[in-house]
Amino acid sequence: MYTCGPTVYGFPHLGNMRTYVFEDILKRVLTYNNFKVNHVMNITDVGHLAGDRDMGVDKVEKIAKTTGKTAWEIADFYTLAFKDDLTKLNIIFPDTLCKATDNIKEQIKMIEKLEKKGYTYKISDGIYFDTSKVADYTKLSHQKLEELKEGARVEANVEKKNPTDFALWKFSPKDEKRQMEWPSPWGIGFPGWHIECSAMSVKYLGEQFDIHCGAVDFISLHHTNELAQTETATGKIPWVNYWLHGAFLNMTGGRKMAKSAGDVVTLHTEFINKNINPLVYRFATLNVHYRKPMEWSDDITVSAKNGYENLLNKICNLGQKIGQINKESKAKFLADINDDLNMPKALATVQEVLKSDLSDADKLATILDFDKVLGLNLENAVKNENIKIEIPKNIQALLNERKIARDNKDWKKADALRDQILSLGFEVKDTNKD
Ligand code: AMP
Ligand code: ZN
Repeated sequence: MYTCGPTVYGFPHLGNMRTYVFEDILKRVLTYNNFKVNHVMNITDVGHLAGDRDMGVDKVEKIAKTTGKTAWEIADFYTLAFKDDLTKLNIIFPDTLCKATDNIKEQIKMIEKLEKKGYTYKISDGIYFDTSKVADYTKLSHQKLEELKEGARVEANVEKKNPTDFALWKFSPKDEKRQMEWPSPWGIGFPGWHIECSAMSVKYLGEQFDIHCGAVDFISLHHTNELAQTETATGKIPWVNYWLHGAFLNMTGGRKMAKSAGDVVTLHTEFINKNINPLVYRFATLNVHYRKPMEWSDDITVSAKNGYENLLNKICNLGQKIGQINKESKAKFLADINDDLNMPKALATVQEVLKSDLSDADKLATILDFDKVLGLNLENAVKNENIKIEIPKNIQALLNERKIARDNKDWKKADALRDQILSLGFEVKDTNKD
């Protein structure tokens, strides 16, 4: 399984992390079904240019210039930030996490293969892939070529033979020394963005493999180009047996959440800095099917936080004794997750188990088994017997009001407030210390 990784010139945003959680769920589901998964992910530390069609500045080099750091330092810093987010979201690390800059030789070799087969041409800024030579270039997106040409006009490179042609190798600018550049048979420069995934996936997984993932934005450009050049280079079709693409997380109002647009929210801004467990975000994404777009809003955090804490609380109340996994419930859960990763349904099955007639010990065993897929760290709920749940502001206000009513011996009002608090999902238990 190959999943496209981050371009490391900024903090990953919640949209990126939605895709990585979806891929993690896929991997866990396959493992739960007893498949052995070999997972490779790339780190794009060079070659991702500001314009989608190989125009503009290199994003990593640009940030290096504006911050006074080296491009290598920038890439290392944001790679660490990315790994940190993976850990915080309980995402299982790929078996191989490979950097584009560590695999330049392999990329050059693949370009040489394409050159030998006559699919490349040289223009003033680099070596390009001639997409018109691939009969079914748009077979992944099923788009009409004219639609792609339309978008490409915005940043047209007049020297290209076809608007959809893309760079395999870009030359370093003549008047400027790049920090990241390498010699090649065509001159000093750096690889284009798409070639890294083709070269590294073939290197680590072989010329044909099972699964390739990313989000939907990759279908018509990045994955289309990866596919065209890999199948041309190896001559083996199909390169990939299954493509899975996750839907986007958009900003409120449907605006695209994109690092390049700078209009993003991150695990830090929305969760860590606000002292909210990052797994609340994982829980939020599991509540929406991976092929349905999500729109970001503060309400998502509030309801996911309530939902996640509620779940932890219920599990905590099951005690510590672990019984038997219930076969019927497991079959139901398996049917949910194997139905195109229907995680909202799987979460409903968790609630059904909690409400069922099973013993607490069997409920616990069953749900902890499900958590191999959910990855919500539910075992922690059992270990930390008393989970500290933050009381929401509105509930705290009602509690204060109730305390005043009790101090004034207004029992009727105190009881009404207790009922109101109960209707909002919190139970008041008065102790002697009150
Ligand atoms: P990037 O670091 O932007 O190159 O993207 C890394 C991964 O995140 C890729 O699989 C993208 O398709 C995915 N991605 C980018 N933006 C979003 C978004 N707003 N929602 C979901 N996934 C995204
Ligand atoms: Zn890729």
